[in-house]
Amino acid sequence: MQGWLLDIHPLSRDEVAVWIKRRNGRIEVEKIKWMPRIYVAGPFDKLVQLSKILSSRYELEFTEKDIHIGGSLETVLEVKVPFGERKKLAREILDIGNYRFYSVFNVDLPSIQEFLYYYNLYPTAYIDYSNNSFKILDNVEDLHYDTSWIKIAYLDVKISSSNLLPSLQDKLTEISLKLQDEEIVLDSSEESILEELSRILDSLDVDVIITECGDSFLIPYLYYRSKVNNIKLRLSRLDHKPRLETVSKSYFSYGRVYHKFKGLKFRGRIHIDSFNSMLYQETGIDGIIEISRVCRIPIQDASRYTIGSCMSSLQYYEAYKLGILLPWSPHRENYMSGRQLNIADRGGLILDVKPRIYWNVGEIDFKSLYPMLMYKYNISGETINCECCRDGGVKIPEVGYHICRRWRGIVPRAIELPLKKRLQYKKLLREASTPHLRQVYSRRTDALKWILVTAFGYLGFRKAKFGSREAHLSVCALARDTLIKAIKIVEESGFKVVHGLVDSLWIVKEDAVDDDYIKLVEIIEDRLKLPVSYEGRYRWIIFLKSKINPFKPVNNRYFGALFNGTLKYRGIEARRRDAPLIVKKMQLKMLEKLSRADTLRELKEKALECLELYREYVKMIVLGEASIEDLIIVRSLSRHTREYVNRVLHATAARKLESLGFMIEPGQSVKYVVTGGRWINATLPQLCRMGEYSVREYLKMLERAAKTILEPIIGGKKISSIALKIIG
Ligand SMILES: [Zn+2]
Repeated sequence: MQGWLLDIHPLSRDEVAVWIKRRNGRIEVEKIKWMPRIYVAGPFDKLVQLSKILSSRYELEFTEKDIHIGGSLETVLEVKVPFGERKKLAREILDIGNYRFYSVFNVDLPSIQEFLYYYNLYPTAYIDYSNNSFKILDNVEDLHYDTSWIKIAYLDVKISSSNLLPSLQDKLTEISLKLQDEEIVLDSSEESILEELSRILDSLDVDVIITECGDSFLIPYLYYRSKVNNIKLRLSRLDHKPRLETVSKSYFSYGRVYHKFKGLKFRGRIHIDSFNSMLYQETGIDGIIEISRVCRIPIQDASRYTIGSCMSSLQYYEAYKLGILLPWSPHRENYMSGRQLNIADRGGLILDVKPRIYWNVGEIDFKSLYPMLMYKYNISGETINCECCRDGGVKIPEVGYHICRRWRGIVPRAIELPLKKRLQYKKLLREASTPHLRQVYSRRTDALKWILVTAFGYLGFRKAKFGSREAHLSVCALARDTLIKAIKIVEESGFKVVHGLVDSLWIVKEDAVDDDYIKLVEIIEDRLKLPVSYEGRYRWIIFLKSKINPFKPVNNRYFGALFNGTLKYRGIEARRRDAPLIVKKMQLKMLEKLSRADTLRELKEKALECLELYREYVKMIVLGEASIEDLIIVRSLSRHTREYVNRVLHATAARKLESLGFMIEPGQSVKYVVTGGRWINATLPQLCRMGEYSVREYLKMLERAAKTILEPIIGGKKISSIALKIIG
């Protein structure tokens, strides 16, 4: 049987269901006998003893595996364990050996991922299943794989609720399903809406259902309403009701707390909760599918995983193929904590830049510099300072470590595919002929970028299986070395470096044109054997003072106008999540005005026009004319509301939500509007009346944002004097 692999899940203790969509559009399920494995290492006689104890209950085999990466093979005991029993058995084995004789492996390798690794499969692969074996008819390296067969429906509901927050008791009044070319609305009685739903999903043959808050509310709600109406609801393709507890957790990733609900997965059909999927929010369904394929994770899991767990799967797969076992430590957490994140900082080169206006500056960026260095220099936890190359290893500048010459590390093996694919997608993106293709390629590029960034972040993460602090420091040292070498080449070629930051250089030469910069890029690529991109030439660019915080990646702050008409800005209010729309709108309008200036005189003239613009915004605020939408501030909570001791506005807003019955967890975002006079306060946008906001606070925000842009051009005095007249 041939078709695309849609979904995979355990069916019983020793059986896996594989859902295959045929070319004729029919979906079929194959039931395959298979069990996850764990491995036990220890003295051979002890393993024999253990095998006698376990043989009546489990299928066992002695086999050769690698338990120290790159070391020699050892005889270990392989145990086939029914789904859901590995941890229990692993503890029992440790107990039998008095926690001395045995060590256990592959216990926390997610079992369906192991199934995929075992058969070399990945979701959405085009496969042929016959005679109990799989043939893969496409390739994980493919850039043009077919996804047009996937039928996606966006599910939304209307609930008759008098509160801000709908509850399980409120009646369902409407369900809408949006597909690519049709929309179906069910709006009869609650009973018949629910009855219709299962039937319609089947008759439309929907493969993927995308909801908003499906995990935390919507799906449990639909099941609850079905129960009340005594109707059997079926959202999966199998008769199966998901477990409906909505356990949630928070986790740290790159300086922010994210909030997750435990997933409500379907069977034979995919459920993605857009609200509960960072990957979906950042890269859409195209990004999720790319990650599912490259990292070999079922689609529903990939959408809910942290990007770190996705990246780890890629490494586990490489290890699995090499017969390397993954040690098990119970109670291991698989997310980074705030303190450990510190390590994920890139520790790259930062040049001191004089904050001022520069003209005719070219920007060049090293493409995926850190992963590229890890790949090129074979950086992995086990390759740095290896025993086998003590005398002849490759030396790393500055830190004095050496790299193995004999063993290709797991980390560089694992990043090869995303690294290669990302560069190819970027090329396709530049050549893409339709907006649809551009969107697909850019989302896949972004998804792979996350994987690469995380591969570096996890390299120094204490609990990562294939990382080490030394490996992390080695990459940082190589990155600094690369930038210093590049600066030398730039200067030898008669250019000057204006600013350098981690993997980017801003350079200048009087009267240089694009071709001169492009030639320079070619020289750097040729000499350093690393890919470099020419981002373009700025008519003018203004660098602001960098706010360097030891706990966060460098805050790069600049804005400028390229000759090709685009604006580029980083680290200013217009980019910040927690700046209200009104501030962003004003800054963007200012940048738009300034972008056309060709000389300093013109720039100053335009800045004076911006001052007028600023006045208009001030007037709007003062007269109470700003819309509530424009005043909303979004901030995420880094802890529970009760843990905020100081009066913090977003905590105040969160408490208000709690008093209305919302469940608020760290990592969730809250929206609020600043109110109050002398003592500022926060209110929920839904409750804020027109003109109720704090004029003073919003004027302050406008003033700051105006200064960010205009102060480097015309000084801050004029702005302050306008503000002073009004705020007093
Ligand atoms: Zn070595």
